[in-house]
Amino acid sequence: MHAARLHEYTHEMSGGLSVEAVDRPQPEGSRDVVVEIEGAGWCQTDNHIIEGQWADYVDQQLPMTLGHENAGTVVATGEEVTLVSEGDQVICHPVQTCGTCRPCRRGETMYCENDSFNGLTTDGGFAEEMRTGERSVIPLPDGVDPAEVAPHADAGITAYHAVKKAVDELAPGDTAVVIGVGGLGHIGLQCLDAMSAADIVALDVKEAARELAVDCGADATLDPESADVPAEIEARTDGHGAEQVLDFVGADETTALGPEIAALGGEHHVVGYGGHVHEPAQAFVAGEFTYRGTLVGQYSELQELVALVDRGDVDLRTSRYDLGAVNEAAERLENGEIEGRAVITP
Ligand SMILES: [Zn+2]
Ligand SMILES: [Zn+2]
Repeated sequence: MHAARLHEYTHEMSGGLSVEAVDRPQPEGSRDVVVEIEGAGWCQTDNHIIEGQWADYVDQQLPMTLGHENAGTVVATGEEVTLVSEGDQVICHPVQTCGTCRPCRRGETMYCENDSFNGLTTDGGFAEEMRTGERSVIPLPDGVDPAEVAPHADAGITAYHAVKKAVDELAPGDTAVVIGVGGLGHIGLQCLDAMSAADIVALDVKEAARELAVDCGADATLDPESADVPAEIEARTDGHGAEQVLDFVGADETTALGPEIAALGGEHHVVGYGGHVHEPAQAFVAGEFTYRGTLVGQYSELQELVALVDRGDVDLRTSRYDLGAVNEAAERLENGEIEGRAVITP
């Protein structure tokens, strides 16, 4: 079969991955599941992996097949698998977990002490088939197209996980600011709209993204390049500021906005990454302000997101690319030319 593999770290997205013939995966353990990939979302994290930005954080053995946002059809199962069988359509949580460590017992599957991560520490789904485990697959409701929902496996649950934490703190009438309406932001907006009664303000420098934000449930949009964002948020909230800020960009300029626009006790969720946080310690004290990190989301949260999708509350904007066009997707994302999410269809 064919797979798009990373052989060495590079900043040249035009030749980041090479499409080559590899062996088809087989179930190795009794609870393994092999999935024929119908869709695999291309993520900004894939660009970061190609650049080597994850090499200091996780153990990566190259060459490796990238792709962590996978969905498709089960083609083989280990002898003990009961959740799914051949022919079932599934979405694959990117992390394969042990189920027996303490974090797994508590449901904190992202903290599993014996995990492997498709497309980050083990082969992923930019390939015709991928091996995962029974603990990582979620059967899709009838009528849901795997290629259409694949990005929910990471972009979706990451956005959902941050929004779920924010919604816990958002009363009706409070204000939530969403920074960046791209692959994650447009999902986060729809989750916020479905799960809270807050006033939602979306920020993006691109006009098309601001239009998408309105379609996804934003009550107002601002262009941070032309608007005075802190003044606009202050005026909109009678001087209180925004209770929750969801930062899907994570650049120096966006993390710096948090303390300027947050209400007292407010939180700034760092979802996107790449930049730094540079703030005086006093800003945390004076405003009782918090930055919160976001690491994908739990298996059970992907089930909840699939329920929202099944209800029609969350709709993905996708564009499709053949496996042979992976590097084109990488380059286009790097240049900010993709609206919504690119999906590779091996
Ligand atoms: Zn991702
Ligand atoms: Zn575990």
